[in-house]
Amino acid sequence: MADMDDTAIQRAADLIEDADALVVAADAGMGIDSGLPDFRGPGGFWTAYPALGRRGLEFYEVASPRTFETAPALAWGFYGHRLALYRQTSPHAGFGLLKGWGEQMFPGCRVFTSNVDGHFQRAGFSDDAITECHGSIHHLQCSRPCCGDVWSAEDFSPVVDDETCTLVNDPPKCPWCGAIARPNIMMFGDMGWIDRRSRRQESELRRWVDKATRIVVIEMGAGTAIPSVRHFSHELVVNHGARLVRINPKEPAVPTQHDVSIAGLALAALQAIAAAVAERQ
Ligand SMILES: [Zn+2]
Repeated sequence: MADMDDTAIQRAADLIEDADALVVAADAGMGIDSGLPDFRGPGGFWTAYPALGRRGLEFYEVASPRTFETAPALAWGFYGHRLALYRQTSPHAGFGLLKGWGEQMFPGCRVFTSNVDGHFQRAGFSDDAITECHGSIHHLQCSRPCCGDVWSAEDFSPVVDDETCTLVNDPPKCPWCGAIARPNIMMFGDMGWIDRRSRRQESELRRWVDKATRIVVIEMGAGTAIPSVRHFSHELVVNHGARLVRINPKEPAVPTQHDVSIAGLALAALQAIAAAVAERQ
């Protein structure tokens, strides 16, 4: 935090003060401060899943719909571990700061996240205010899929052997056809992801954005490798005149001189902005 640019922090506080509407845009880097692994960080995937490292399995190979056919206990070992981890982990304090700023604005706040962890809901954001562009691990769908149904994962409690990263108990089943169920998440090479829930969330977000004025986007931990979140932020800047605060330790460059670039992790940057906002009140 010591090397964070104070001018940028002050400008971010200005943008929050001047805004009527807040859009929170979050990618994998947002969860790091909650203690969640970033699979794309240095050695990230195999550090989090040493059993998969020993077998030489890459993230894209395990996070694939084909793995639910060829090695279902392994696929659910990986996703079951993540489901349990996300259920057990508390979102860091930055979530609460964002929520507080949103509550001071009218018409409030919306969230666009590629994270499937459900942590914005867990931090108290309304489900109606959240778009999960890559889906949610807390929802299931048929692996075939036989139909477009998406249902809650709350009845499923995975038991995973961490030594082998395999599911020990029975995997969830599709209630319609009996095939194995899978998380309602967009995976690698995924032709079967049912995006109905995400599309409905996004169309509601679009309607909200069309009506909102003076939008500030606070984007955190959004990489360029899978740029869904960065594209979304840029689109609001270009088409809706939004201002952007980009918080990113490695790729903080912003599209225009009106935007603010903060090289740092989400929690430290949000706390620095919150301190700047508080000094003025
Ligand atoms: Zn089915």
